[in-house]
Amino acid sequence: MDYDKLTGAMRRKGFRLTSARTQVCLVLCEADGYLGAYEIYNSLKARGVNVGVASVYRALSLLCEMNLVQQEEFGAGGEKFRLAQNTHTHQLICSGCGAATEFGECSMHNLARSLENSSGFKIHAHWLRFFGLCPNCQNKPAN
Ligand SMILES: [Zn+2]
Ligand SMILES: [Zn+2]
Repeated sequence: MDYDKLTGAMRRKGFRLTSARTQVCLVLCEADGYLGAYEIYNSLKARGVNVGVASVYRALSLLCEMNLVQQEEFGAGGEKFRLAQNTHTHQLICSGCGAATEFGECSMHNLARSLENSSGFKIHAHWLRFFGLCPNCQNKPAN
């Protein structure tokens, strides 16, 4: 997923490429991981781009609806966004600092197959996250 693909997909669906939409796409393309809406807003402000927080949110929700961007809930870190990935991963999320670690090895597929057999469902997705404390937070003295 890159900037041209994102803006191309919006244009094909008939969405205008407003400054908020294109700028949010740019920031997400440059980011290497998840960003919160306010992080995107601040990084735009730092570049002198005049886009309101509400517009950033609207652009993000449009991109999520189009499955171009993924949204994740990060416990203490709130909800964050990143470009949709082709690879299937799961996350370990620290409830202390909000840090997320991804692991790509998914062992749920056998379970999904057996659920399909027993329920008659055709399963096309699943969602799995682990919450806990990262090594850093475990070593922090409790206060
Ligand atoms: Zn932590
Ligand atoms: Zn999985």
